[in-house]
Amino acid sequence: MEKTVHIAVVSCPGFSHLVPIVEFTKRLVKLHPNFHVTCIVPSLGSTPESSITYLKTLPSNIETIFLPPISKEQFPQGLHLGQQIQLTVTLSLPSIHEVLRSLSSKVRLTALVADAFAFQVLEFAKELHALSYFYCPGSAMVLSLNLHLPKLHEEVSGEFKDLAEPIKLPGCVPLLGADLPALTQNRSSEAYKSLLERAKAMVIADGIIMNTFLEMEPGAIRALEESVNGKIKLYPVGPITQKGSNNEDDACLRWLDKQPPCSVLYVSFGSGGTLSQHQIDELALGLELSGQRFLWVLRAPSNRPSAAYFETADQDPLQFLPEGFLERTKEKGFVVASWAPQVQILGHSSIGGFLSHCGWNSTLESVQEGVPLITWPLFAEQRMNAVMLSEGLKVALRPRFNEDGIVEKEEIGKVIKCLMKGEIGKGMREKMRTLKDFSAHALNDGSSKQNLLQLASEWENLSGN
Ligand code: UDP
Repeated sequence: MEKTVHIAVVSCPGFSHLVPIVEFTKRLVKLHPNFHVTCIVPSLGSTPESSITYLKTLPSNIETIFLPPISKEQFPQGLHLGQQIQLTVTLSLPSIHEVLRSLSSKVRLTALVADAFAFQVLEFAKELHALSYFYCPGSAMVLSLNLHLPKLHEEVSGEFKDLAEPIKLPGCVPLLGADLPALTQNRSSEAYKSLLERAKAMVIADGIIMNTFLEMEPGAIRALEESVNGKIKLYPVGPITQKGSNNEDDACLRWLDKQPPCSVLYVSFGSGGTLSQHQIDELALGLELSGQRFLWVLRAPSNRPSAAYFETADQDPLQFLPEGFLERTKEKGFVVASWAPQVQILGHSSIGGFLSHCGWNSTLESVQEGVPLITWPLFAEQRMNAVMLSEGLKVALRPRFNEDGIVEKEEIGKVIKCLMKGEIGKGMREKMRTLKDFSAHALNDGSSKQNLLQLASEWENLSGN
């Protein structure tokens, strides 16, 4: 009989960090039923309902251990989202350590896999005699930035956003300094220092599991392989996204059933993105000006773009729409409060475009369904994703933000029409369909499946099977 191979996984708090790493383990145990995964989940405040519902659907060989929640009360004011995630992991380290020690006293742990934000966890791998891996939830381009940051830090003086020339990460589309992640924008900040620390720590891993695939980022992946030169093994296994569940009676899906093919623009800013009141007004009026059909997941306004990531507002977001908007657009639009079944929506034949904040999961979900995008980055590394989609892959349009950081209604109307009706949009849709086919192939038989099989067989060999 085959021996059981035990793997421990440490996620980060937040739905969009938890789901991809758990989906990775689901693929692993589906291919290798003799694997057993213990998934350790830190949380900031109470675990969101979306995460709890999701974790209830796991097979029996993936076990979840929730750590005692960290209270936000003890956090300094004004922390970036990335810092909040990282501090939650730091404060959870003693309980993570305890869980891992107790686990390894009962079974032989073959590998420890940690979300890239939980980098300190990998220090425990040696003590447990386990191999250590980062699960990189973003693009190869973001991983490349992380690995090259210590060098960029040495070479560049002053702020990245003031650089006159674009930054050229090997194999990647050139990037303006202003498009680098928010945490790099103030180099004297604690946030930047901790990012640099994380970048330096990544080289201690035995391998990096990447949620991307070769055909989407060939240049970046090959250049990364060259730069790590076999010292760290890289496993691009994506696109790994959540599976849609059956929501037969969901009102927005039933509304989509009644719309013509490829006619609806889906508008959503991820699991926690928010717009200011001014921007909500402009977006509403821009949607109206475009004359196109739309399905909009709306949240209550905030001046902090990631405000709803860990907190849900209890106000009805629809009250923040401009006067008479719902009545005027009732033939063409559908507005959903706060949360919608995104994967099923993107897979619906009526969807023709996605106005997205370009979180990496949303990006991959759009690729998997072949839907071209309008990029509207809000925080974290989303501007880098927007550049890759619009300038690299050329499957997205990027609207112009004015000096106050607002996209005005005329610009919104114009870009939507161009994507949904214009020749440029048509070309992007075709490119996206090709990428969709590549992504399906990568997962079913191609590069990503082979990489996952390779990783699993290395783990099996190590555990004596
Ligand atoms: N999501 C969803 N319904 C919503 C909003 C988001 O199912 O109304 C899911 C979406 O499908 C994706 C994740 O939440 O899997 C958002 O992840 P992403 O990386 O795009 O953005 P983040 O939430 O990290 O900003």
